[in-house]
Amino acid sequence: AKQSGRNAYRYYSEEMNLHTSERLRLEEALRDAIRHDQLSLHYQPKVDMLSRRITGMEALLRWNHPALGSVPPQRFIPLAEETGLIHAIGKWAIRAACIQNRLWQDANATRLKVAVNLSPLQMSDDNLIADIREILDDTALDPAWLELEITESTVMANPDKAIVLLKSLRDIGISVAIDDFGIGYSSLAYLKRFPIQAVKIDRSFVQGVPQDHGDAAITKAIIGLAHSLECTVIAEGAETQQQVDFLHEHECDTVQGYFFSAPVNADRFGELLRMEMRM
Ligand code: C2E
Ligand code: CA
Ligand code: CA
Ligand code: CA
Repeated sequence: AKQSGRNAYRYYSEEMNLHTSERLRLEEALRDAIRHDQLSLHYQPKVDMLSRRITGMEALLRWNHPALGSVPPQRFIPLAEETGLIHAIGKWAIRAACIQNRLWQDANATRLKVAVNLSPLQMSDDNLIADIREILDDTALDPAWLELEITESTVMANPDKAIVLLKSLRDIGISVAIDDFGIGYSSLAYLKRFPIQAVKIDRSFVQGVPQDHGDAAITKAIIGLAHSLECTVIAEGAETQQQVDFLHEHECDTVQGYFFSAPVNADRFGELLRMEMRM
């Protein structure tokens, strides 16, 4: 079936290349991705610095197309946003993450917080709150175990609108983490006004510690600032022991990165949990 799919695609692609772009082809394929079960989520553990246990995970979209192979999110998320498909795909991701988290809760004694990325476009989706309520209802997942990651630049693009949405999310009982924090331009005044529970230090800073003085200073400042606003701090993209040691020493709460594990599929993540390993 895979083979014939590949041939069919080649034929189709040569035909289409005559009068349309690669982009259009990809768009067509993406339209069918949900229906054809080509989307999945990978999960990357978030490790608590004090207990060294997995306390949560980030859900990351993967698209495996029979002919194109695995298409990286950096390629298809922008396309999904340009075409509006992000609404369906983003909703699918929240639902899939909640279903999976519920399965793990039923199978293990531990409760984990699953974080799903939210596109800027979803923020202006009038149905977002109702959709999330329905998903939580359908999956019977306690909202405390769902987190949404929203980038700093998304929030700062329209801070007043963001505050309204963040308040609605807080009212449902979902936590919000500000993603890629530090590379945008949030003023401290705004950060104080945002009803958020966590800040994720951008990977570009984390990867510079401990050697780069600027990155170290910014990382420490973000941790201090976030804590003073009673936010949890998550560092993303930690790859080395030295980076983890630095983050632990400076009281970062949670660390995520290749040092502990790359994002893995649900089966492999389940294995990590069953081993109940200390990271
Ligand atoms: P992001 O939200 O900043 O996600 C973190 C990215 O860093 C992931 O890339 C992850 O695999 C990668 N990463 C994790 N640890 C390390 C590390 O130690 N070193 C390095 N070099 N990289 C690390 P990925 O999975 O390719 O996702 C890329 C981006 O695609 C995400 O960046 C996010 O913006 C977007 N994305 C992924 N899934 C979704 C989704 O469901 N919805 C939306 N709207 N965007 C998504
Ligand atoms: Ca993220
Ligand atoms: Ca329903
Ligand atoms: Ca990030």
